[in-house]
Amino acid sequence: MALLTEEQEGMRKLVSDFAQKEIAPKAASYDLTEKFPMDNWVKMADMGLAGLPIPEKYSGAEVDTVSYVVAIEEISKACAATGAVVAIHTSAGIMPIYLFGTEEQKMKYIPDLASGKKIGAFALTEPGAGSDASRVSTTAKLDGNEYVLNGAKCFISNGGVAETYCVFATVDKSKGVKGITGFIVENGTPGFTIGKKEEKMGIRASSTTELIFENCRIPKENLLGKEGEGFKIAMVVLDSARIGIGAQAVGIAQAAYEEALKYSKVREQFGKPISALQAVSFMLADMAIQIEAARHLVYHAAALKDAGLPFGKEAAMAKTFASDTAVKVALDAIQVMGGYGYSREYPVERLLRDAKITQIYEGTNQIQRVVIAGHILK
Ligand SMILES: Cc1cc2nc3c(=O)[nH]c(=O)nc-3n(C[C@H](O)[C@H](O)[C@H](O)COP(=O)(O)OP(=O)(O)OC[C@H]3O[C@@H](n4cnc5c(N)ncnc54)[C@H](O)[C@@H]3O)c2cc1C
Repeated sequence: MALLTEEQEGMRKLVSDFAQKEIAPKAASYDLTEKFPMDNWVKMADMGLAGLPIPEKYSGAEVDTVSYVVAIEEISKACAATGAVVAIHTSAGIMPIYLFGTEEQKMKYIPDLASGKKIGAFALTEPGAGSDASRVSTTAKLDGNEYVLNGAKCFISNGGVAETYCVFATVDKSKGVKGITGFIVENGTPGFTIGKKEEKMGIRASSTTELIFENCRIPKENLLGKEGEGFKIAMVVLDSARIGIGAQAVGIAQAAYEEALKYSKVREQFGKPISALQAVSFMLADMAIQIEAARHLVYHAAALKDAGLPFGKEAAMAKTFASDTAVKVALDAIQVMGGYGYSREYPVERLLRDAKITQIYEGTNQIQRVVIAGHILK
């Protein structure tokens, strides 16, 4: 365990007790049914977990980033899909408005989001603009006092369940990234519809959908920042959101490791528990080393952010290492448990499927390496 303050440890205990009691027992059935975990959401909102790092002024809990990532880790350990819902809602759904919105926009949107009355989403990715987000082709044309949005987004987390979407569109394609602009779009706005829901390998209970904009008129007041600032807004938001994905990965890895550890002590072969076999105990030791290292990287990036220091490189490193660790540890947990690990009767196969997304979203690990290389070669 890392050295945390009393408050941060208090957050871990509070969220861990809650998540193990209320969320973990339902994780397998949510995975099976792919149903959005609304009851988990309501309980988390009641506990004040929907806006942890947001100031109290906007109905948040105003905790530091380290406490926030500890909470995401514990929720994700219990159910990675639920962890994804709350991490993306907070870090990517609320943060663009909190960091770049006007005071009026913050007062209008954040209290409902931070208190969990509403869910938030972040819509950057398009069929033609994945890793290369500069290729956004959804358009926004100013017409009187309204912007008219046309285009489509894909793979949007919390799609359909969210009521507030931070959407990135271009006001002028000829300007490239300098044309990309952020907007706040409310669910139910005429011309805005939810498209296909993805059927996914993991985090299956989280909703991932297309968003479709057909002459969707939104008031000029919903412009986020200034015209042309959208790409910068998205990159700043993703920089810190990555710490949350790192925390999600640590939680998944910890869950897989604990499952394998427990099993290795009770499963007997050749007349003794398999944990007494050096080959097995060394696998467990390697898992423990990697998780501890990943956790330290994640907490370190969060602590840098709390200290007001640059953290972009460390956040990318934390996300990359933690997500690679989650996949490796989940795979090794299956190996430790043999055929039982491969069976759906035990949770480790689900944890492997859940772990995989952490290497892909909020920037693939290849893109994280591009970010890290950019920092170290500057
Ligand atoms: C479950 C899920 C939830 C998501 N949630 C959201 C969300 O809420 N909001 C949102 O906006 N997006 C979301 N995404 C989209 C996600 O961020 C993208 O899938 C991701 O950025 C990769 O884009 P892509 O899928 O188009 O892959 P591509 O960009 O086509 O990449 C394909 C492969 O090429 C590699 N590659 C591409 N460019 C480079 C490069 N320059 N150098 C090295 N390798 C490269 C990639 O690493 C990858 O291995 C989500 C995706 C999923 C699957």
